[in-house]
Amino acid sequence: MLPQWIIEKKREGNELSEEEIRFFIEGFTNGTIPDYQMSALAMAIYFQGMTPAETASLTTEMMLSGETIDPASLPGIKADKHSTGGIGDKISLILAPLAAVCGLTVPMISGRGLGITGGTLDKLESIPGYRTDLSGEQFLQCLENVGCAIIGQTAQIAPADKKLYALRDVTGTVPSIPLITASIMSKKLAEGLETLVLDVKWGKGAFMKSREEARQLAQSMVDVGNAMEKKVRAIITDMNAPLGRAAGNALEVQECLEVLKGGGPADLRELTIELTAHMLDLSNSLTGSELRSAAGVRKTKAGISQCLENGAALKKFEEMVSAQGGSTDWKFAEAAIQEPLLAPADGIVTAVDAELIGKACLMLGAGRQKTDDTIDHAVGIAQMKKPGEEVKKGEPLAVIFSNDWEKLDEVLSMVACPVCPEQCRREGTQRGNAFELGDSFEPLPLICEVIG
Ligand code: URA
Repeated sequence: MLPQWIIEKKREGNELSEEEIRFFIEGFTNGTIPDYQMSALAMAIYFQGMTPAETASLTTEMMLSGETIDPASLPGIKADKHSTGGIGDKISLILAPLAAVCGLTVPMISGRGLGITGGTLDKLESIPGYRTDLSGEQFLQCLENVGCAIIGQTAQIAPADKKLYALRDVTGTVPSIPLITASIMSKKLAEGLETLVLDVKWGKGAFMKSREEARQLAQSMVDVGNAMEKKVRAIITDMNAPLGRAAGNALEVQECLEVLKGGGPADLRELTIELTAHMLDLSNSLTGSELRSAAGVRKTKAGISQCLENGAALKKFEEMVSAQGGSTDWKFAEAAIQEPLLAPADGIVTAVDAELIGKACLMLGAGRQKTDDTIDHAVGIAQMKKPGEEVKKGEPLAVIFSNDWEKLDEVLSMVACPVCPEQCRREGTQRGNAFELGDSFEPLPLICEVIG
């Protein structure tokens, strides 16, 4: 077998066998197949796609390229949630301890910010002392003692994905459904999970810009999960506007604490409870311990909500943070400049552009423009008005947290450009109006569809 024969076969749109995929991924991982041949195959996959069987084989081989965690000795059902990424999406920080309080074991391996989307690890690292680089043994210890732990992908977990992701990033092959599926699922299934809930986002602040694309990605990930005999369900959710009122690392952790104390923004709370309820429902379907009826789900949601109100989830979060070396006095780095963005007129907020808010946060230093950039945990945008809320002229639409006056000026013109946003778009600039005002508002559903 030669790598070029496999590339040619895919280029012509033919189905690759399990053996061919194994040969290619093993060779790429151990260095006998060079980056240029892997890039060529990735581009052939980008144009020709893959059948569900090929995608499942690619996922399996990428998962087996490294170590898999075996939490078999741990009590409870091993369950996790994964989001395809968005702006202000801080759900994992609340959901992991919440699901643990509800009796699940949550071994969460998370990622860093990618493009304009924020990363769970970057958010957690704004807590002084928090360690995301636990060894496999420390990870299992934390799971045993606390019931949940959130760490980063180690060099040993799905190394083929780590190498391939870096190549895809520079060869224009990121937005391919089989490649995204294999990338996400290989890492998640290496955790030794029994059930997985996927939050597949569509809209301005998501990788998938249309609901149809999100549906295809969701179906592809559910199919792979089922082929690997795991209980997997995908929830398609709206990411046209940021989730919650804060975007930026320390600002988002503070918003998580509000939710964990029983308050916080309604959309963030609603989606966290919904995803946790699906995790419990999938896990209950394994044990048969709950009625899987609409009434059962309502009862489950009421129970989950109570764990936020009675402080049990907050206590669990504090246990997890302490077990991972973090301080629980909740003191965060503060930005030197806090500049309100004022409403230019009276009106109802009809849209908040998640993509512009994400780009603005990146510009402030909340994310990385190059892989070796360091993050400024204090910066971002908070106290954002939500679609449907009324504002009076001169009232703040949001507050921008910055440590640099020049960056603040740049961001102000990005999110509140005095020039017509359409003209800006035509000219291809980064400018626009992140907050649109109007006379009336038609809400879109946050939770759009359930697959699997
Ligand atoms: N997240 C991943 O881990 N991989 C992708 O390909 C896209 C998003």
